[in-house]
Amino acid sequence: MTSTLDENIALVLHKIDDLRLEPFPVSEPKDGEVLIEMQSVGICGSDVHYWKWGAIGDFIVRAPMVLGHESSGKVIKVGPNVKNLKEGDRVTIEPGVPCRRCDFCKTGRYNLCPDVVFLATPPVHGSIARYHTHAADFCFKLPDHVSYEEGAFCEPLSVGVHACRRAGVTIGSKVLITGAGPIGLVSMLAAKAMGADTVIMTDISQSRLDFAKKIGASHVILADKDAQKTAQIVIETLGCMPDISIECSGAESSIQTTFYGTISGGVVVLVGLGRPLASLPIVNAAVREIDIRGVFRYANCYPAALSLIASGRIDVKPLITHRFKINESVQAFEMAESGQAIKVMIQCGNEVQH
Ligand code: NAD
Ligand code: ZN
Repeated sequence: MTSTLDENIALVLHKIDDLRLEPFPVSEPKDGEVLIEMQSVGICGSDVHYWKWGAIGDFIVRAPMVLGHESSGKVIKVGPNVKNLKEGDRVTIEPGVPCRRCDFCKTGRYNLCPDVVFLATPPVHGSIARYHTHAADFCFKLPDHVSYEEGAFCEPLSVGVHACRRAGVTIGSKVLITGAGPIGLVSMLAAKAMGADTVIMTDISQSRLDFAKKIGASHVILADKDAQKTAQIVIETLGCMPDISIECSGAESSIQTTFYGTISGGVVVLVGLGRPLASLPIVNAAVREIDIRGVFRYANCYPAALSLIASGRIDVKPLITHRFKINESVQAFEMAESGQAIKVMIQCGNEVQH
C-alpha cells in the first residue's frame, strides 16, 4: 500500500443513525481492476434508507459498510491486463459487477446475476471515499466536456434508460410516470430523449411537480388518494389513455393508478419498490392485456446514459440541487433526508466537479 492510500477516508455506516468519516483500507488494483481517486458521488434514496433503517428488504447492514454508489473519479493506477483505461482517465463507475459467467450474464441480463457485487449493498462497501478500486470494464471514460457530477449521474439515469427500454418507449409514446422523485425525473428525461410525444407525471408533492414541469414534463398532476380518480384526471388531461406507465413511487395507490390508467394492450413498468405486498386491480389489468414488467437497476445502459448526457440531449445539471465536501458528508445525508433536495452530490476529490 502506498502512502496516498494510507490516507484513504470513507463514509462508513456503523449502524442505524451512526455514520462516520474514518480511515478505511483500499486494495491495490488486481487483474482487470483500476484504482480510482474518487471525485463525485451522488446520494441515492437507498443510501439514506440504510442510514435510517439499517436494511432494505433482505439486505441488512450487519457490519460497518461504506455508503454510496452513484460515482465518478480519476484513474490513478491500472492493474494487470487492463486494456480500456489508462492512468489519468476520468471515468464514471457502474456500481454492479456481475459474475460474467452465468446464463443471465451471458444473455446480457447481467443485472439479474445472482452473484452481482453491487456497491453499498450489504455486505459490499460503497464508494464515498477518497479512493476506490473497481473492475475496469465497469468504468466508462468521460469525454472531456462531461463533468464528474454528470458522470455520477449516469447511475440514476441508467435506471431511467432501462425503465424506458423495458417499457418500449419510442417515437410518439404517451407516457405516464407516477412519482416525481429523482428516478421519476430521470425516467421522464429518458422517455423524452427516446422519442416520447407526451410525458405526464403525478406526485403528492406540489413542489416536486413544479420542478418536474420546469425541467420538461408535459403535464403534472397532484395525485388524489383515490387511484381511479387520479387515472381519470390523467386520461382527461392527455385526451387519451397513456400507452406506457412507469411507476416510480412505490406507493400502492400509485401502482393502482398505473393499472387503471394504462391503455388496453399497454405496458406498466414497476420501478418503485414499496411494501412487499400490494392490493392491485389485477383482473382489470388481465382482461385488458396490460403487460406488467419489473425493473431491477439496469444492464448495458451506462453507454447510452453517458451518450445522452455527452450529446446534450439530456441535461442532468438542474437536478443537482446541493453540494457538500466529503468531510461534510453527514450534513449531506441530512439534506438528502430532509426531502428538500433533488440530488445531493458529495465532492470526494479536489478536481473541478461541475
Ligand atoms: P423518492 O422517494 O425521492 O421519490 C418518490 C416520489 O414519489 C416522491 O416525490 C413522493 O412524493 C412520490 N409519491 C409518494 N406517494 C405517491 C403517490 N401516491 N402518488 C404519486 N407520487 C407519490 O425516490 P426515488 O429516489 O425517486 O426512487 C423512486 C422509487 O424507485 C423508490 O421506491 C426506489 O426504491 C425505487 N428504485 C428502484 C430501482 C429499481 O431498480 N427498481 C432503482 C432505483 C430506485
Ligand atoms: Zn452472472
